[in-house]
Amino acid sequence: MTDCWFTEMHEHDAKFSIQVTEHLYSEKSPYQQIEVYDSKTFGRFLTLDGFMMLTEKDEFIYHDMISHVAMAVNPDIKRILIIGGGDGGTAREVLRYDTVEKVDLVEIDERVVRVCQKYLPQTACKLDSDPRLRLYFEDGLHFVQEMPNQSYDLILVDSTDPIGPGEGLFSYAFYQHCKRILSEDGILINQHESPYYPKDAYEMRRSHSKLKATFPIAMVYQFHMPTYPSGHWLFGFASKKYDPIKDLQADRWNGLGLYTHYYNTDLHKGAFMLPTYVKEGLNNA
Ligand code: SAM
Repeated sequence: MTDCWFTEMHEHDAKFSIQVTEHLYSEKSPYQQIEVYDSKTFGRFLTLDGFMMLTEKDEFIYHDMISHVAMAVNPDIKRILIIGGGDGGTAREVLRYDTVEKVDLVEIDERVVRVCQKYLPQTACKLDSDPRLRLYFEDGLHFVQEMPNQSYDLILVDSTDPIGPGEGLFSYAFYQHCKRILSEDGILINQHESPYYPKDAYEMRRSHSKLKATFPIAMVYQFHMPTYPSGHWLFGFASKKYDPIKDLQADRWNGLGLYTHYYNTDLHKGAFMLPTYVKEGLNNA
């Protein structure tokens, strides 16, 4: 074993490290620094600009929770837009539904897709093998601006943090276009940062206040991500029509017989039950 470690600063005085068994790939793309490492405990992992994106060991948690919550509220979803998500994990999960007719994936950085296809087939496995999926290499903000009204039933914003190329995906203009291009019963799920460390909690509040101002229903749900700062992460659920708890179609979803290693319809309801400090943070947004 080498004595090489990947380290991410989670706070100025708190850091998270993984011992690297092999540094598999390194590239500076036009948008970001892309690295792929291997490790004993977490398997292969992808970082962008030094921030952890996914590990083979725990990616199922993030990809289950970004995908299946909305699908269990409306199992009739047919047209899906993924923004970001170049590793392919979110596409892999939504393409498990036979009822889904089309998935457009808009990733700003083609190099992320190509690197993941080579080094992370566990997540990228469906990126070139399902005819329902179409890849677009462009800025997600620009893509939604150009789209006609009501083009999608579900939008999944699987983005990096609101610094660098991901910044526009946390803007008010972006959320307004998402609302416009969603069907009348459309759902938006977005990477909603973390409630714990102050800079993440600040972004959580900013994102929530914009979503609340845009959609009649804007809620937040949580999941546990061992390799993200604090291990406590959130997605936003915004909709024109559906309440994610009252409208959960548990029997229909369970009847599909999809095995999910993290998500289940009991956890679905529990995920929206937030700790007091998180509720307070969101109420003050
Ligand atoms: N699970 C991850 C996380 O939250 O850490 C996100 C993974 S995915 C790799 C994030 C992707 O969003 C990156 O590949 C990045 O290139 C892409 N991205 C960032 N800004 C974007 C934009 N404006 N439009 C489209 N894709 C964008």
